[in-house]
Amino acid sequence: MKPNLSFLGAAGTVTGSRHLLQINGKHYLVDCGLFQGGRRLRQKNWEPFPFPPEQIDAILITHAHIDHSGYLPRLVREGFRGPVYASEATCSLLEILLPDSAHLQEQDALYANKKGFSRHKPALPLYTRRDVEQTLPLLRPVSFRKPLELDQLVVTWWPAGHILGSSWLQAEIPTFEGGCTVVFSGDLGRYGQEVMADPHPGWQADYLIVESTYGGRLHEETPIGDVLEKLIRSVTAQRGVLLIPAFAIGRTQQVLYHIRRLQDQGRISDLPVFIDSPMAVEASHLYCRFGDDHNLDVNLLMDERQCPLRCNATHFVTSVEESKQINQMSGPAIVLSASGMCTGGRILHHLKWRLPDKRNIVLFVGYQAEGSRGRLLLEGAETIKIHGEHIPVRAQIARADALSGHADENELLRWLTTFQRPPTRTFIVHGEMTSSQALQRTIHQRLQWKTTIPIMGDQWTLNGTASKNGYTSINA
Ligand SMILES: [Zn+2]
Repeated sequence: MKPNLSFLGAAGTVTGSRHLLQINGKHYLVDCGLFQGGRRLRQKNWEPFPFPPEQIDAILITHAHIDHSGYLPRLVREGFRGPVYASEATCSLLEILLPDSAHLQEQDALYANKKGFSRHKPALPLYTRRDVEQTLPLLRPVSFRKPLELDQLVVTWWPAGHILGSSWLQAEIPTFEGGCTVVFSGDLGRYGQEVMADPHPGWQADYLIVESTYGGRLHEETPIGDVLEKLIRSVTAQRGVLLIPAFAIGRTQQVLYHIRRLQDQGRISDLPVFIDSPMAVEASHLYCRFGDDHNLDVNLLMDERQCPLRCNATHFVTSVEESKQINQMSGPAIVLSASGMCTGGRILHHLKWRLPDKRNIVLFVGYQAEGSRGRLLLEGAETIKIHGEHIPVRAQIARADALSGHADENELLRWLTTFQRPPTRTFIVHGEMTSSQALQRTIHQRLQWKTTIPIMGDQWTLNGTASKNGYTSINA
């Protein structure tokens, strides 16, 4: 039987990355992500997994972001017991992120039950810390650039420049057509960045699965320092708070790096910077441990005064009590807190407190999925629902996509042109339909590659024929 590839998530949407490769009776799942964003998407996390979890032989993870890894504990709860392979830094990040994800699921359920605002009675967590305890021992760290031999697949992890440990995967099927290579881009980072290294160039692929988060879009060219300087000067003058929803590991350090630079250059005053996340404290250790993944000097990272990921008046907030105290504090100040899309976590309490005051600014620095509070705010919502309450939005809402860890369309194309020959077929995933279609048009015009935008549940036999319809193909 010929190998086939099923698209079980991140098809026509950005979150929930899950791709199943079936080869000679073996089943490999590439990424195991949570759906995030509006209720319609989150509901998908509760649907039964479309393939028996106990029959999956191994899971391969591209990077630690929850939309690529956060479904693991649920799959383990449903019966998966095999190994989970990921880069060393990804495994270290998962040891921090998965317990936190379970904690958030449990907290949200508890809070919903206490306040009685959930539609479900009682509200349940998708998984618990106990499920995570069953999941972490399954992690198997692998080194970058060293092929890992599995029964039917030889897989190599290459740096993708998106977050610590992020990778694109080269999966070779030696038994098929004298060797067939399937490449999964995971999430691709940007080129020429101060903190993260460039994505490693591709080489060859017979089938390529590429993300399209920023298909059809280019990041602004205004230097990020200028954008931040303007906003920080505004909140300083208004005595307001600059609230930045950001993922605790990766995006938060990127923002801190730029604030620190502005301080060193004397362009902003040393206003207090609160990092309201227990996980962010551990992040700097990880930057020290995984020096190959980024461009920073590890010796400087270890020096508390010179560390480029700390500002001059940085306060790490770990306890819930301290977190609440930030709400009582008047500006000027900068507060960074998770989650980045405002779907849960401590950021919700900060938003509740800061959104009604027009002296404050909320700055989005990452991708905001459809239906998420972050997206609604960017689209100009006048009120936003948090914990069952309608909160008026009077604060200024700003965005700085250049701080996103994602390649824009030109950068995606730059990576694609590192492949030596056109793949037999390129599948465009991990994007809203308009973004995926925009990237498809560009690939068609510039590279003339055969491309397909799969929809959720589609299967593709690796000789080019579809076993289900619903594709948008060019050059079919
Ligand atoms: Zn990601």
